Amino acid sequence: MNLTKEELQNSVIRKLKRNFSKDISQASQRELYDALASTIAEQLQTNWMATRKLHAKEKIRQMYYFSAEFLMGRALSNNLINSGLKQIVVDLLNELPFGEYTDIEEEEPDAGLGNGGLGRLAACFLDSLATLDYPGHGYGIRYRYGMFEQRIENGEQVEYPDKWLAFRDPWEVRHAELAVKVYFGGQSVCRQGDDGRLYYSLEGAEEIIATPYDMPIVGYNTKTINTLRLWEASSRDGFDLQLFNNMEYAAAVAKENAAEDISRVLYPNDSGPSGKTLRLKQQYFFSSASLQDILRSFVHKHGNDFSKFPEYTVIQLNDTHPVVAIPELMRLLIDEYYLDWDVAWEIVTKTFAYTNHTILSEALEKWPIEIFQTLLPRVYQIVEEINRRFLTLLREKYQGNWQKQNEMSIIGGGKIRMAWLAIVGSFSVNGVAALHTEILKTKELADWYNLYPEKFNNKTNGVTQRRWLLSANPSLAEFITKHIGTDWILNLSELKKLEPLADNEDALKELIAIKHSNKKRLADYLKKTQSIVISPDSIFDVQIKRLHEYKRQLLNILYVMTEYNKIIENPNYEPFPKTIIFGAKAASGYRRAKMIIKLINTVADRVNNDHRVKGRLQVVFVENYRVSAAEKIFPAADVSEQISTAGKEASGTGNMKFMMNGAITLGTMDGANIEIVEEAGAHNAFIFGLTSEQIAEINQKNHYSPHEYLNKNPALAKAVNQLIDGTYTAPHENTFRELHDSLLYGVEGQRPDVYYVLADFDSYAKAHKDIEEVYRDPIKWARMCMLNIARSGKFSSDRTIEDYVQDIWKLKKIHID
Ligand SMILES: *Cc1c(COP(=O)(O)O)cnc(C)c1O
Repeated sequence: MNLTKEELQNSVIRKLKRNFSKDISQASQRELYDALASTIAEQLQTNWMATRKLHAKEKIRQMYYFSAEFLMGRALSNNLINSGLKQIVVDLLNELPFGEYTDIEEEEPDAGLGNGGLGRLAACFLDSLATLDYPGHGYGIRYRYGMFEQRIENGEQVEYPDKWLAFRDPWEVRHAELAVKVYFGGQSVCRQGDDGRLYYSLEGAEEIIATPYDMPIVGYNTKTINTLRLWEASSRDGFDLQLFNNMEYAAAVAKENAAEDISRVLYPNDSGPSGKTLRLKQQYFFSSASLQDILRSFVHKHGNDFSKFPEYTVIQLNDTHPVVAIPELMRLLIDEYYLDWDVAWEIVTKTFAYTNHTILSEALEKWPIEIFQTLLPRVYQIVEEINRRFLTLLREKYQGNWQKQNEMSIIGGGKIRMAWLAIVGSFSVNGVAALHTEILKTKELADWYNLYPEKFNNKTNGVTQRRWLLSANPSLAEFITKHIGTDWILNLSELKKLEPLADNEDALKELIAIKHSNKKRLADYLKKTQSIVISPDSIFDVQIKRLHEYKRQLLNILYVMTEYNKIIENPNYEPFPKTIIFGAKAASGYRRAKMIIKLINTVADRVNNDHRVKGRLQVVFVENYRVSAAEKIFPAADVSEQISTAGKEASGTGNMKFMMNGAITLGTMDGANIEIVEEAGAHNAFIFGLTSEQIAEINQKNHYSPHEYLNKNPALAKAVNQLIDGTYTAPHENTFRELHDSLLYGVEGQRPDVYYVLADFDSYAKAHKDIEEVYRDPIKWARMCMLNIARSGKFSSDRTIEDYVQDIWKLKKIHID
């Protein structure tokens, strides 16, 4: 793609005039961003239209990625880089009186339509699909408010609405002409036709309009531009003029508001179900709208011969959130297109594939029957019928084994088990890292693996190197390109060619300088945004991810507390200077997670203001962790904290971003850490803690004693006691009492220290000391960094997508001419 200086200048001026009625001298930075983004968006339309036309015309197999979350982050830089316009635009902007590119870029709000790893995975997949020229598109919800904005006030997390659409979004295109209707409530009515067949319809249901907004997904160095289609909810005649004229203003707009509620806000919970009716409404809303959209284009292209549907369509379900799509496709095929049950079921079970994202059993979604049936009466009938037929099969297979039949029933205990429905209705079930899939097969889903072994497969997650290396870390990208050329951008395993540089001292020194400059860049950012001063000469030890007990931020901060004590008790103790950096949002209703945030900030406040530890230890909590912040933090990290309780983290993807940016993993043998260590080599990571097998064994024996660990380690005992002894709170304030008690005694019926923080503490502390020792030898450390980068090729989402294509999606590349 090309763009001349004059075109760019004229377009920006035109758009400022048209959209804001201003000229350059009057325009704000925000308006300049809008005008620039609109200019680029306009440039993209030609290839976008061409891709859409080709995909609509050719009889090709297409993949649709159904996800309640797409954590896209910013689009401007990504779209410029992928379309090859970045350098031109940056150069031209330097010559034009529009301001610095880097300042304008900061004006774009993140599209934060996701919580964490699961939503970011969906975003990385879209980038890889477009880059690899695969016809794969995303379907989701256009939340008016995305992931909440986090501010820290008095050390505590306070949530503010994320008004990412306060200004218009220059990338999206609204397609009112493609709106569809989705129905809730009412009664399922059955009548017999003259042909003897039973016909079902809904009466008295509430009608919701679903309007699609399309986002361009720009492939790197290709003309392919795929589509992320996000649905907005509204009502057609929600506004009641009669009531308004009677001055009943709230009642006049009540229906309108209720409809718009469906796409109003992202549920800010991570790895836990919300159980709210509105959440089920969201799930059904986007699943139904997307299926109607897919069916419409199928019929347009192929006519009504649905036997071909699975040949041309595969739908990947990102976790259980869109699993209601399975009975909904049954409903559409039977009630709207008059197929018979068996024909429809054959089609449905060849169309869907399901990705499981969690081992935490409390996170498996289950909907109470009353809620589901009231909201979706006809879909509920279909779920019942799916289950009735499935139970017939179970009865044959497990004759007399009632317990097994009950456990595997899709409906049971008054609830619909969405994961079971997903497995029964899909042809593929995958985990997201080797260990995760193994645990699914042998433990969590062992019964299901026995029943359907052929459905189970592993797809280890990945991340796109275009965003997480090329764009986020330009100096490292330039270094890599200088040494091995540009092929790594489209084939990350090319990084292998960097391996010889691990023995090249000049190259290692270059790498050290690059890391140092990225650390300075982060230090400047923190100075500017949070008025925090940190030293780029200290070790940047980073844990950025959602706040969850299983991720064990508590282990990290407890270790900091012991180090702080040690420095104060012994003025001669000279650890290598360290800056511990946290970034994490806690689900708004997750009390204990919020308590851990408060603890981190309280400890940070104490440590950072104590002159006795100055230059030796510092703790930073980065406010409002999100994609655009992540892009500044990963490149600056020395140490990647991946310290979840073994067996709990399905994969992790943050660990992969760290690795390709040359940070060393300090981690447990959990999730994809295992594969990272396998690639990097055990000597190039710091591994500690119990293995998942050891933990499973302790769980089984059920004789875990926290005091055993405290007695062995007085420094740990002291730090744990400081949670309640008035060191970090006013005396007799019980701010951290629950954290203390959960470790020592267990609260609310839990066992003590469910996540084995105390059991893993000593080996974690030892690993920290090993890190310091190696870090004192900069060349040795840089060698490890180089080898991590060189061996990170496996963790490109391009590799993940090729694996999905080969085993599940069976797509063919399609090139735009
Ligand atoms: C990559 C990423 C995550 C996932 O991090 P994990 O360490 O794998 O949990 C979460 N949030 C953001 C903003 C990310 O970029």
